[in-house]
Amino acid sequence: MHGVYHNQNFLAAAEEVGLEWPEGAKRLQGKGYHAPVLSAETREYHAQSLRELEEAIPLVLPHLELPPTSNRGRVDRLTYACKCDSPRRFRISRTVAAQGGITCNVCGHEFAPE
Ligand SMILES: [Zn+2]
Repeated sequence: MHGVYHNQNFLAAAEEVGLEWPEGAKRLQGKGYHAPVLSAETREYHAQSLRELEEAIPLVLPHLELPPTSNRGRVDRLTYACKCDSPRRFRISRTVAAQGGITCNVCGHEFAPE
């Protein structure tokens, strides 16, 4: 990771999940053991799964429906509009909207979900 020194503890954790520091590789100044690689034993251990994933991923990926990135982590909100000639609009959570009506002081009508 950017700006993080990968010390001996990082390498020990990497080794626990089957990575290793390549033989003869040099630690990078300021970054330490920044890029351990898959060990031969780990590659062999997971070989069957890796082959299956290589075949399955291209078949499945085009059919996956990903959540829209613009809405990630956001609460589901309603868009409310009034009856002005150019309606005034705002987004509001369902909980807050349920607390009661909101009236536009320009057109005098209550804002309603679009
Ligand atoms: Zn209005």
